Amino acid sequence: MTDAWNERLRLIRFRRKREHSTFREELRILPKWLVWVCVVKTTLAIIIGVAINLHNFKTGGPIFPDESLRNDPGASCAALFGVILAAAFVISVFILTLGYVYRDAKRRGMNGALWMLLVLILSPAYLFIGLIIYLLIREPLPFTCPQCSATISARFNFCPNCKYNLHPSCPQCQREISDSDKFCPYCATQLKPAASTEVASGSTSA
Ligand SMILES: [Zn+2]
Ligand SMILES: [Zn+2]
Repeated sequence: MTDAWNERLRLIRFRRKREHSTFREELRILPKWLVWVCVVKTTLAIIIGVAINLHNFKTGGPIFPDESLRNDPGASCAALFGVILAAAFVISVFILTLGYVYRDAKRRGMNGALWMLLVLILSPAYLFIGLIIYLLIREPLPFTCPQCSATISARFNFCPNCKYNLHPSCPQCQREISDSDKFCPYCATQLKPAASTEVASGSTSA
């Protein structure tokens, strides 16, 4: 239990250190078709809503927002347009969030469908708590080995291709250090500058 927790925290630290993608870059993983679904859905909702409203002006049916605008179809339709746009925006953000979680979880080697479902279930009642939980505990992205450029999982301690030590630790206190550290940030032990591949055994979780 403690080991699993430590491993989890280690992965979170690891992710914070390496992942600096912008919001814009993150948006790129959204499926294009899903974005189009949102655009089309919003457009259709506005067209249908306004058309029904105009139709009711002619036939004397109920109009938006109420009878006080009976003599002002322009204002009525503009107000309706705004309300539908706002609602469609909120729904679109929700749909795109689910799409993002699905894609992002998959590229991190996690269960995309399961996480999407969790966010879906938790979101309406608890706002975006499902998304926040997801963002906090998602796995780090696979990355490229600094030595041989092979793609490797963040869970690995050594590169399976070239044996590069991916999680060097301090030989004195065994805590995790980074490749570029000259001294251990925890106990000030001097770390051999050119020997990052052989510092310690990589048993950081023990
Ligand atoms: Zn390698
Ligand atoms: Zn140390």
